Amino acid sequence: MNAIDGTERQEASSEGPPPALLVIILDTNPYAWTILRETITLLDAVANLQIFINAHLAFSHANQVAVIASHTDRAVWLYPTPARTRKNISNGAVPGPDGDTSISNGNAVYNSNKYKPFAQVEEELMASLRSLMSTTDPSSLESTTSTMMAGALSTALCYISKTSEAYNATRSTDPNPSYTYDAPPTADPNDPNSPLTGLQSRIFIFSVSTSLATQYIPLMNGIFAAQRLRVAIDVLSLNPSTSPSAFLQQAADATNGIFYAPPRPNPPNPIALLPTLLSLFVHDQTSRRALYMPTAAATSASSSSSTASTAINFQAACFCHRRTVTIGYVCSICLSIFCEECGVVRDGVCLTCGTRLRLGRYGREPKVVAGRKKKKRGGEGEGGTASGSGTPLATPGLG
Ligand SMILES: [Zn+2]
Ligand SMILES: [Zn+2]
Repeated sequence: MNAIDGTERQEASSEGPPPALLVIILDTNPYAWTILRETITLLDAVANLQIFINAHLAFSHANQVAVIASHTDRAVWLYPTPARTRKNISNGAVPGPDGDTSISNGNAVYNSNKYKPFAQVEEELMASLRSLMSTTDPSSLESTTSTMMAGALSTALCYISKTSEAYNATRSTDPNPSYTYDAPPTADPNDPNSPLTGLQSRIFIFSVSTSLATQYIPLMNGIFAAQRLRVAIDVLSLNPSTSPSAFLQQAADATNGIFYAPPRPNPPNPIALLPTLLSLFVHDQTSRRALYMPTAAATSASSSSSTASTAINFQAACFCHRRTVTIGYVCSICLSIFCEECGVVRDGVCLTCGTRLRLGRYGREPKVVAGRKKKKRGGEGEGGTASGSGTPLATPGLG
């Protein structure tokens, strides 16, 4: 054709950054939300999160989102939901109070006055949340006051891995890929500054629970897996305690994510939640390279009024009691951490691998030996030493 009409034509191709996958982990712990109910409710948070999700989807039509609830005893998918669940949701959908008409897409019914991807997320998210709360057994809340953050993090990482593989497979078989963002072959997966390739995935944790020490081991395993996959973990911590979760700070720090906790003792403000979400967390990893983003250390320092270098809480939890410890004892073979209360220090045997450890004289009180009294040497006076090593005196007659 070009040879016939003499014009230069190009194949239609869209160049741009790769699509981004945002996985949101919403802490739905009823205990924590009950404590926060005077300042912000779960519905307020979800309403702001929906605008945040819409902003993420509006950046690119190829962007994807997933929402997982970290409940007290399990991690539950809120969006996307399986087709079977979606059908039940659509069957139980209540028409809107404004009388808007609805459109049907297969099994689901959505509001026709809203942009379809936005309406789809909103309908399924709210329906899944209602289903989660209605199926929560009060007896299950009596056993624990924590949240299943480690399970939600593992679920998010599995979904990211699966979606990334599907994206790469589609991209490799597509003769005309929609995106032509190629990284040089020297990209190092362990280098955070090396070019990003493939689906850009990140995890956003909306945390309200206080302590996660009971899930220290699976949580740290998830953090290391995210670090290996180059998945950034962003954390917004609204927990009512004075000190934010140490492990979530470490998660953001290890994965080049953003950690933000509102300054204490001010309570979280629902009006300020949306600007915080849109200004700190909406950018994908490609955009963050061109922006001056707060690091985990800087945001922790602003919330705790300490220096940035020492702001991140690097405390660990002992493997024996699952409690946060200030001083721990690490097995040199399996790197398990123990506190003073367990028998490792007394018996010298690691509780995890059974290795007999040589602790030497650790823990024994030192023997106090009375010191000898120094004998005064003869000729020593108060004016100085007898050796004459003091300041030399001027000799008269030699000047
Ligand atoms: Zn312990
Ligand atoms: Zn060991």
